[in-house]
Amino acid sequence: DVPANSLATEHVDTPAKEGYIPFLKTKKSESTLSIIVVGASGDLARNKIFPSLFALFYEDRLPESFTIFGYARSIMTNEELRNRISRTLTCRIGKRENCNKKMEHFLKRCFYHSGQYSSEEHFLELDNKLKEKETGRLSNRLFYLAIPPNMFMDVVRCAKRRASSQNGWTRVIVEKPFGRDAESSKELTRNIQQYLTEDQIFRIDHHLGEELVENLLVLRFSNLVFEPLWSRSYIRNVQLIFSEDFGIEGRGSYFDNHGIIRDIMQNHLLQILALFAMETPVSLDAEDIRNEKVKVLRSMTTVKLQDVVVGQYNGYCEGDASYPGYTDDPTVSDDSLTPTFAAATLFINNARWDGVPFMMIAGKALHSKRAEIRVQFRHVPGNLYNRKFGTDLDKTTNELVIRVQPDEAIYLKINHKVPGLGMRMDCSDLNLLYKARYPTEIPDAYERLVLDAIEGERRLFMRSDELDAAWNVFTPLLKELEKKKIVPELYTYGSRGPVGVHYLAAKHNVRWG
Ligand code: NDP
Repeated sequence: DVPANSLATEHVDTPAKEGYIPFLKTKKSESTLSIIVVGASGDLARNKIFPSLFALFYEDRLPESFTIFGYARSIMTNEELRNRISRTLTCRIGKRENCNKKMEHFLKRCFYHSGQYSSEEHFLELDNKLKEKETGRLSNRLFYLAIPPNMFMDVVRCAKRRASSQNGWTRVIVEKPFGRDAESSKELTRNIQQYLTEDQIFRIDHHLGEELVENLLVLRFSNLVFEPLWSRSYIRNVQLIFSEDFGIEGRGSYFDNHGIIRDIMQNHLLQILALFAMETPVSLDAEDIRNEKVKVLRSMTTVKLQDVVVGQYNGYCEGDASYPGYTDDPTVSDDSLTPTFAAATLFINNARWDGVPFMMIAGKALHSKRAEIRVQFRHVPGNLYNRKFGTDLDKTTNELVIRVQPDEAIYLKINHKVPGLGMRMDCSDLNLLYKARYPTEIPDAYERLVLDAIEGERRLFMRSDELDAAWNVFTPLLKELEKKKIVPELYTYGSRGPVGVHYLAAKHNVRWG
């Protein structure tokens, strides 16, 4: 076997598009790229991966010579795959011409091969089909595993043995979940590493591809005004919030086995926390950033049960509308204790953050859909205005909000005087609303991440030691919740979550709600 990644990517000077920082690229004319979407018959492939690939093609971000192969067990012709995915491709970039022509060109490059996930023979057939399309000196292959996790290992083995590139790179994008706890995650990593080197594995957490998450580092490290305040000296607490306004809606077979802590907190919110709290990296290189993230994750104390509230939504009817509770879902057992809501306070034991509560809140079937980071600053010491006008100290502290979705925005709550002859104070937002400032469409997170994987840019993908450190923060809590069979507090579908979260917030002096 020729090592799949035997030929490294090369630096080339591609003319930079406006606002685009070129990363590592292979020379276009000499290489072909095959993208193999494994699990092409599934929801993720149809709703996210193919539309993102089309958007990249539309934006001329794919190499000139590329082919896309869908692979799954379902029997489908090339035409059937094209029909299926064409329904979800959109001209998201706006009112440009020729989108339909572009779609036609794109669809002509999409093919399908039906096969079993554990059949080396079927992957060999795929390999032959790929070779027919690969014309360049270098044939690079990107496998996207959009399949349930119990199939990962079979596919990795078959792809490595029968369908990896013989003269270019082979990379594999793996979707979460990466295990259920520290041990199973380590085992998955060990198993995958039998076939792939760490730099061939791209563990995707699509929330890291969100525009505002990327922007977090720019905000911190390119503005003099924020970084000096970014510590326990000025920050009172940080909230990381992820709420959805819908329930599991038939996806219980996956969710009930994982729950909100594994689904959202241990990965998405913890990753954002690490980017928020890490020290300044030596450079913007992936390894420098990931080194800092690992350090901060390793400085965290494990989450304690007394610093956690878990909840589960129950349903209600209003007129003709009915909102089913979690255990009403046919895919969930009646006695399930799986949390659909959790609030947890985490601490980082280092000089910068000692004693600052980081409160994570994540839930389904809540009153709003939002993902945001809220930074509450300390009181102004000896505040003249609070003393003179008796204003509520707690209500006049500054707050920085980074709204990841919807309506991406960064705003800072500041105090100011209300115009007029009297002296009245008010609090308003200095607001950078992305929609208003940048009318162009913001790329979908998957677009950025797939492009990064093609270009070998790893900074938004999780390294195995990061994953270990992240699991170590939550694994003892997850085990305790399961061992003690902690009953989640009920909250009503569409509400703000369980009452217990207010007590937890008060305990850690967090202004909430
Ligand atoms: P699906 O359940 O739609 O599965 C994808 C494909 O895998 C199916 O079309 C099916 O293809 C095959 N498959 C499904 N179940 C089995 C099984 N038990 N044994 C063998 N093959 C099976 O998943 P999604 O597309 O929604 O997601 C794919 C992966 O991405 C999952 O691991 C999921 O956890 C993860 N993920 C999904 C997200 C989403 O938005 N959907 C978001 C984040 C992560 P066929 O029968 O044709 O072989």
